[in-house]
Amino acid sequence: MGERSFATRCVATTPFDPTGAVVPAIYLASTYAHPIPGACPPPAPMPCGTNEEGGHSYQRWSNPTRAAVEIAVASLEDAKHAYAFATGMAAISAVFSTVKAGQRVLLCSSIYGGTFQYISNFFPARDIKYDLIDDVNALRAEDVPADTAMIYIESPTNPRLRVVDIAHAAEVAHQVGAKLAIDNTFQTAYLQRPFELGADYVIYSATKYLAGHGDVLAGLVLANDEELAEQVRLAQVALGAPLSPFDSYSVLRGLKTLVVRMDRQLENAERIREFLLAHPSVTAVHYPGSENAKEAEIQAKQSQGAGSVLSFEIADDIHLPTFVAALDIIGYAVSLGGVETLLCHPASMTHATMNDQELAAAGISQRLLRLAVGIEDASDLLAELQRAFQVSKGAAERCLDNSNSES
Ligand SMILES: *Cc1c(COP(=O)(O)O)cnc(C)c1O
Repeated sequence: MGERSFATRCVATTPFDPTGAVVPAIYLASTYAHPIPGACPPPAPMPCGTNEEGGHSYQRWSNPTRAAVEIAVASLEDAKHAYAFATGMAAISAVFSTVKAGQRVLLCSSIYGGTFQYISNFFPARDIKYDLIDDVNALRAEDVPADTAMIYIESPTNPRLRVVDIAHAAEVAHQVGAKLAIDNTFQTAYLQRPFELGADYVIYSATKYLAGHGDVLAGLVLANDEELAEQVRLAQVALGAPLSPFDSYSVLRGLKTLVVRMDRQLENAERIREFLLAHPSVTAVHYPGSENAKEAEIQAKQSQGAGSVLSFEIADDIHLPTFVAALDIIGYAVSLGGVETLLCHPASMTHATMNDQELAAAGISQRLLRLAVGIEDASDLLAELQRAFQVSKGAAERCLDNSNSES
């Protein structure tokens, strides 16, 4: 058969179905007829979506539609095991459930807001210590406390798009007998392949690029090591947040267009980046590798593309509310990775739980905007941004003038 390409594997995800259906069925059953021990003749093998235990029994344990997602995503990552969860946060919780009381986790300092919420609330209660590391790329094994069980990273980070050296983080983790977990949501296996760089767990919020249409929450954890996989599998069953059959179908449906969507998003993001870099009202543009030469080198080494999330800082003479109100195609909302372009203000939206000090440490100013680029025609997006800059320039003063003249 030969090795199929990534794009083909995205499409060819339908498991064998006895009806010949070319898209996977949504199996809603909560429970399945159990084989009768010692019955003669022995029960026929399960016809479709066989999971690793070979059959289906109860939906929290396994489900044919969910198994199809897990098989498809494992194939894209060339991983042995994948487990699908109700949300990205459920997937992250499952990975953290493998850390025991008295152990420590090191995390890169700008992690996803929900992950920060988890560790700051649940690690202390579970007697797990943690440290936020500003520069994982400079971390040395001798700096890592002996009780460290896991290093947890994202690359690029959100919303400043800093690059974390995955191979380096894996090497340091393994030198001290710890595991490396990476949230690969922003890049996907299409652009970045953490297992090939030494990662032990790869995590996704499939809500974003994998599903890609802003209509489903989903998460995945992948692992190659049998023991680690077993622990994640236990969390999937016992913590009780597996992906539902309908949501499994939505992820499978989205997955088929992953490559065409991401190709278009990358192209659009590149054009918008060039526009922003040249715009006089933009004081900084952040994208993977933009921070310094070292990060640019790491990014080039470990990733096939910048992705389609970028952030930028707008000049003081741009009135932010007027800028946002002038947008029509571009939605003002959190989330990313979908077909529609979304703009957000991290300081008041995705990172609103941080205080001023934490925001400053994470490099999130009040003038920073994050853009998650979609698949629209780039010319329309550029025209809209251009117009928004025009109408919002000096708008604060104009508003003041108006209110003065009225009084
Ligand atoms: C959205 C997101 C999550 C959480 O995913 P949910 O599906 O919303 O639970 C985790 N990590 C990253 C990087 C994300 O963008």
